[in-house]
Amino acid sequence: MNVPLLDLKAQYHSIRSEILAAIEAICDDQGFVLGPRVVDLEQALAAYVGTAHAVGVASGSDALLLSLMAAGIGPGDEVITVPFTFFATAGAISRLGARPVFVDIRPASFNMDPSRIEERITSLTKAIIPVHLFGQCAEMEAITEIAKRKGVAIIEDACQAIGASQNGVRAGALGDTGCFSFFPSKNLGGFGDGGLITTNDRGLSDLLAMLRVHGSRTRYVHERVGINSRLDALQAAILRVKLKHLGSWTEGRRRNAARYERLFADAKLLERVVLPVTETGNYHVFNQFTIRAQQRDEVRTYLKDKGIGTEVYYPVPMHLQICYRKLGYQKGDFPVSERAAEEVLSLPIYAELAEDQLVYVVETVKAFYSSH
Ligand SMILES: *Cc1c(COP(=O)(O)O)cnc(C)c1O
Repeated sequence: MNVPLLDLKAQYHSIRSEILAAIEAICDDQGFVLGPRVVDLEQALAAYVGTAHAVGVASGSDALLLSLMAAGIGPGDEVITVPFTFFATAGAISRLGARPVFVDIRPASFNMDPSRIEERITSLTKAIIPVHLFGQCAEMEAITEIAKRKGVAIIEDACQAIGASQNGVRAGALGDTGCFSFFPSKNLGGFGDGGLITTNDRGLSDLLAMLRVHGSRTRYVHERVGINSRLDALQAAILRVKLKHLGSWTEGRRRNAARYERLFADAKLLERVVLPVTETGNYHVFNQFTIRAQQRDEVRTYLKDKGIGTEVYYPVPMHLQICYRKLGYQKGDFPVSERAAEEVLSLPIYAELAEDQLVYVVETVKAFYSSH
């Protein structure tokens, strides 16, 4: 049996005619950049997330960059985030000449540990970027309390968490701005790159819309130095079709997560692997189903040989990246992140997986530990 980590073709085949009709309409009218289809998607996603505004941009990375630009962050500023994330979170901070300041994560959720934030806040701190890793919101109540008291902005990295919520509020509506990615492997994935920023602040939304087109409101008049980061109409139209199915795909991911829980428990594997923990109040959307596994690299190779795709998100924490040597961090500075990097393994979780594929994954994990 073959169980790829992700099977985008299976999803595409279920909505093929709808997608092709949307693409054909754009080919016919040749309106490719921004325009009414992007506005339509922005409105639909603002409504979905529960914010007043949404601004379509070229990628999740740019959503982070533009959010930081709109918050006025630049050289000399500090921005707090986690070392256990995709590089884009930290990279956006550095690109503006600001300094990423890391705080460790919680072992159970892999998300920012709010009890570590305050000791890192200085007079230079301008923002906090909590990452809703793997599809579960960070502890936003505690983070927001600190941010409000210290007068710093919150930029949510919700790139893996579209549809996730905390106490009934969706990711992207919990901070000053919410950043989303439509990279194909995300829960709402386009046919290429794309991103979006959500906010309740009208002024911020206007500023973001200006910064994504070189800081211009009126053509050839530039009030600020912005960037070129526009969302394509093709992506917007495809995403608009896919958004209608997002709820059922998310339910499929959650159903598979529940099945894994039962199968791993029945197989008596809970001594060998630690399953994802959903914290109270959180609606987890499982962009990844990430376990901690003993002998992680060996089990990963074993699964690969048996036709099962897995991935390590993420093997190198930010503070140990080559490009961040100059920040002066060392191995041992963030032990929870470092340990996670050594133990995590993401298993296939997409909605289209069949029950027998999940059974096969767990049986194969069991076979590995029985022989090792
Ligand atoms: C995917 C992702 C990003 C970046 O999104 P792109 O669209 O690939 O630029 C940023 N942060 C996290 C946590 C992500 O998973």
